[in-house]
Amino acid sequence: DQLPADPSSINNPRQVEHACFSYVQPKQPSNPSLIHASEEVANLIGLSQDDILSNDFLNTFSGKTIIPGTKPYALVYAGHQFGNWAGQLGDGRAINLTEIFQDNKRYTLQLKGAGPTPYSRTADGFAVLRSSIREHLCAEAMHYLGVPTTRSLSLMLSGDEVLRDILYNGNPAYEKGAIVCRVAPSFIRFGSFELFAARNDLKNLQLLTDYTIKLHFPEIESEGILKYLDFFQAIMQSTLEMIVHWQRIGFVHGVMNTDNMSIHGITIDYGPYGWLEDYNPNWTPNTTDRQHKRYRFGNQPEIALWNLYQLANALYPLINDAKPLENILNTFSVDYQSAYLNMMRNKLGLALPKEEEDSVVIESLTEILQVVETDMTLFFRNLSTVLKVDSPKIALDKIAVAFYNEKDLNESDLNKWYIWFEQYSNRINLETQTDSERAQQMNAINPKYVLRNYMAQLSIDAADKGDYTLINEFFELLKKPYDEQPDYEKWFAKRPDWARDKVGCSM
Ligand code: AMP
Ligand code: MG
Ligand code: MG
Repeated sequence: DQLPADPSSINNPRQVEHACFSYVQPKQPSNPSLIHASEEVANLIGLSQDDILSNDFLNTFSGKTIIPGTKPYALVYAGHQFGNWAGQLGDGRAINLTEIFQDNKRYTLQLKGAGPTPYSRTADGFAVLRSSIREHLCAEAMHYLGVPTTRSLSLMLSGDEVLRDILYNGNPAYEKGAIVCRVAPSFIRFGSFELFAARNDLKNLQLLTDYTIKLHFPEIESEGILKYLDFFQAIMQSTLEMIVHWQRIGFVHGVMNTDNMSIHGITIDYGPYGWLEDYNPNWTPNTTDRQHKRYRFGNQPEIALWNLYQLANALYPLINDAKPLENILNTFSVDYQSAYLNMMRNKLGLALPKEEEDSVVIESLTEILQVVETDMTLFFRNLSTVLKVDSPKIALDKIAVAFYNEKDLNESDLNKWYIWFEQYSNRINLETQTDSERAQQMNAINPKYVLRNYMAQLSIDAADKGDYTLINEFFELLKKPYDEQPDYEKWFAKRPDWARDKVGCSM
């Protein structure tokens, strides 16, 4: 099947109808240079370390030259932003170079920040260094954490300056332009389907859906209405699994608009994302969402479901019966609860099937984690050092480093913790696993190292001055987030005080 292309070849912002994409040309960067590339991603698409260092690589993944025989394009899509219908959006600063088939897998190579497209609306199509560093480091860190995600092949400077309305002394400021090459099976989003449904363009809605299923969901063998239901079910399942991973590691996406939801259930669009430091379900890294906190940590499962409703609405015209869609949607909450419980039991090292008792232990834990600021990553990592024989007092000592200010704990808080550790101790004493077996299992899913917000910021500040040491260091460190890495022990620490409430920017 061929998706319809936009017949016009102009790049000016406009509504594009009856098409799934527009052919576009990246803007030629004036002086591109490579900052960092992921060798593993290069290998995935059949490139070597030597290739990475070549001029071809530099030119191709900065948008300077086009791969012979290819026609770069930008996808059109729509979406709900912060709960409101936003109409046509599309790849405003993303240009798909080509699609490749390698080792039985499909990859789309996409430049982010390579210039304007018909979907740039009022913006420029470019990306700045700081947001590109955040995307490159985080996408790869997420992959190594075991979270489904787009990958990041390369991070380049364009050599051009980009105007951003971050004010310095009251004036807009120029920043270094950068380009990231993202890699994913496809960049098709919930909003891709919403666009055609909203326009009542059923022909292209069906064409896109059939194409997507045929190419990306070959395991779906049903036909007719069932095929579309199976497609929806598969997206719901992978989305659910992705959210459980986010909650496991304390990742907050920050902009879960339907145009930022991949149909592959992979994390996409690293904007104002952040990592929970102190465990606070109400936290969001998105400064434009500080009032309603729609995309706060604790709301991510609800929002995923809300977004799935929008996708269901978009696919409805192909099915013409709301009941089976509702039946699928109605399973989300129960399935999520059970997957979440299972994940949390694993984080606590609880293996015996005692779901009911364990849900009580988990609920009381997530409550006391919020009594005083308690670092999520440090807490779970250190919890694995608690032994079956430990008294509540000894156990508490082992995790106390996770408290941002231990003096905040009053006597009643301490008692809550002692009661909880009493429960926990009783529970692990029922386990047949030894302490060290349990610790090993816990350490395989409770990361020791995550890309804390201030770490990303430190690497950005240095890179801005031309020093890429920290980017390289964090990239290597975050390749093995579950391993002990004595050389990097200093990154297994609470956010320093100066970094409180400082999170990176999205644009
Ligand atoms: P986001 O909130 O980053 O997911 O972006 C929402 C929409 O705005 C998408 O259609 C993006 O392509 C577009 N967009 C964001 N930043 C830019 C930019 N600098 N230039 C053009 N379009 C942009
Ligand atoms: Mg987006
Ligand atoms: Mg974005």
